[in-house]
Amino acid sequence: MSDKEFDYLVIGAGSGGIASARRAAEYGARVCVVEQAALGGTCVNVGCVPKKVMWNAASLLEGLEDAPGYGIDARLEGFDWPALCAAREAYITRLNGIYASNLERSGVTLVRGRAHLTGPGRAQVGERELNAAHLLVAVGSRPRRPDIHGAGLGIDSDGFFALRERPRRVVVVGAGYIAVELAGVLHALGSDVSLAVRRDSVLREFDAMLGERLVEQMRAAGLQVHTGFVPARLEGEPGAYRLQAEGGATLEADEVVWAIGREPLTAELGLEAAGIECERGGHIRVDAWQNTTAAGHYAVGDVTGRAELTPVAIAAGRRLADRLFGGQSERRLDYENIPSVVFSHPPIGSVGLSEAAARERHGDAVAVYETAFTDMYYALGERKPKTCAKLVCAGPDERVVGVHIIGRGADEMLQGFAVAVKLGARKRDLDDTVAIHPTAAEELVLMREKR
Ligand code: FAD
Ligand code: NDP
Repeated sequence: MSDKEFDYLVIGAGSGGIASARRAAEYGARVCVVEQAALGGTCVNVGCVPKKVMWNAASLLEGLEDAPGYGIDARLEGFDWPALCAAREAYITRLNGIYASNLERSGVTLVRGRAHLTGPGRAQVGERELNAAHLLVAVGSRPRRPDIHGAGLGIDSDGFFALRERPRRVVVVGAGYIAVELAGVLHALGSDVSLAVRRDSVLREFDAMLGERLVEQMRAAGLQVHTGFVPARLEGEPGAYRLQAEGGATLEADEVVWAIGREPLTAELGLEAAGIECERGGHIRVDAWQNTTAAGHYAVGDVTGRAELTPVAIAAGRRLADRLFGGQSERRLDYENIPSVVFSHPPIGSVGLSEAAARERHGDAVAVYETAFTDMYYALGERKPKTCAKLVCAGPDERVVGVHIIGRGADEMLQGFAVAVKLGARKRDLDDTVAIHPTAAEELVLMREKR
């Protein structure tokens, strides 16, 4: 034990901060966590949780389209957006309370307010001075806006969750996770949606098959995808905005949603007082053990700019606490093969290398297996979207280095395949696994045709 007030001072009670604080407290450390807003951070309040609620609602409405095929006369009598939002907010409030009581049960001191670093291991929160032997920065990120005329007229993902009624016509700008998720939700919930993509496709960080199939399926569902649309200017007034692209094309809408990435909340944190250095974009520079450039200071989660996902922030935070207070000196997060799901319509699951990345890394020693089929769920109805999957294998024993799926159920399918990839499964191991019938997932262990 040091002579400091705390052993561990954690700035930010989001996914990474709470997980690390509670794990450290389990080891007996004296822990303090500082939070300026609602407990749970982005994920709980304006991220994964409210997004998944909206996605569930959208999926329910989509299911109604398939009901007649099953002889079900399910007419939509109405959809109450304010009631959905009120139920969602009540759920989030319950979660905020659970986080507070969990912190208390773990013996973590919670200080409410905005922290500013004043020196090594020291932070000021209002009138209060805090100090600790170890300090974790887990302050997360916020939505980014483009540097164009009228950008302030649009809303971002935080603004989407604040909408009190369903917008009639919406332009969603962006090409990443948030853009395709919010566009899909709004479309399924009945808005007239245009997705403005500045390049030729969406989700370009993923295997190209996923973005291509998603755009096809979005268009088939009636969502307008405008590629090559580089926003240049936004003007108008509430309910009547005009978004102009470079080259003159325009889109009109009641709301414009920016979903063009996020920026770390490091600008006014006083990092320099502690000697913590940032990368050019403002993310905190860390090594493989989450150490910053200042001894005794660490960072996890979105603020480090690496795989900005809740389970990543949690895993990095817990492993850091294991290392600092649990006597596990080599414990750290392996950032390879992190699975992720895009809650688009249909959903996407992806782990490991894209085909292009595998070819770059392994050259000709890459084998690709692909399948496209209609899920039996759609057999009786009018809608026949395809589920598509790709296995990327490398080396003479065909290790599975990438699994990419788009289609109904892909979100729930991926986790198990991610375990297989992590364990170094070979294509032959998938072949040797008996299929589960009738499911869509079985197609992933039945792929025979080599491309
Ligand atoms: P956060 O959860 O953002 O927590 C940081 C906390 O620090 C915040 O509570 C903030 O108020 C606090 N803070 C900041 N500065 C200070 C300060 N100076 N003093 C005190 N407190 C401070 N990830 C998934 O895995 N799955 C999903 O489905 C998913 N969906 C998402 C949907 C949306 C719309 C968004 C925006 C994100 C989504 N994410 C999803 C990403 C996920 O939310 C983040 O990766 C995750 O929340 C990062 O956790 P964190 O601990 O780094 O930061
Ligand atoms: P992303 O980084 O995923 O995507 C943003 C994209 O917007 C860029 O890739 C770029 O695509 C495009 N873009 C950037 N600048 C501009 C611009 N000026 N004009 C038009 N388009 C632009 O960011 P998101 O905001 O979608 O999400 C942030 C992070 O949150 C994600 O990376 C993810 O880690 C996390 N998240 C995770 C979710 C999940 O797990 N399901 C859901 C939501 C968020 P291009 O270069 O192709 O034009």
